[in-house]
Amino acid sequence: MTIEFKKIPSLGTRFEAHADSIHFSGEAVKHSKTLVKCAGVLEGEISHVCDRCAEAFVLKVNEAVEVFASEGIYHDKENDELLNVVEFFDGVIDFNLLRESELEAFRSDYHYCGSCETDN
Ligand SMILES: [Zn+2]
Repeated sequence: MTIEFKKIPSLGTRFEAHADSIHFSGEAVKHSKTLVKCAGVLEGEISHVCDRCAEAFVLKVNEAVEVFASEGIYHDKENDELLNVVEFFDGVIDFNLLRESELEAFRSDYHYCGSCETDN
């Protein structure tokens, strides 16, 4: 789904994006003039190759996510602790794109299959 920046209320609105087997839903809240805070959960299952033994396995995903959508270029301010920002240039937040970029970030972490996990 997509929502225009100007339609995000300061009290927040629900959003959701679903594709493949991963669902991303939560709440979008106006944070500043050009920033919208999207806090939610990535949930579902993906197939993943174990980062230790290289066996493919089904990885359950249940990950709290906090990402900021910026209307236009995001300028880092000093002492600003916002790290996770995605920029949009057409006045619209694309939650499918946020879902994809958060899932990509999750995938790039190390994940171990059941038998490697119990070895630890
Ligand atoms: Zn493994």
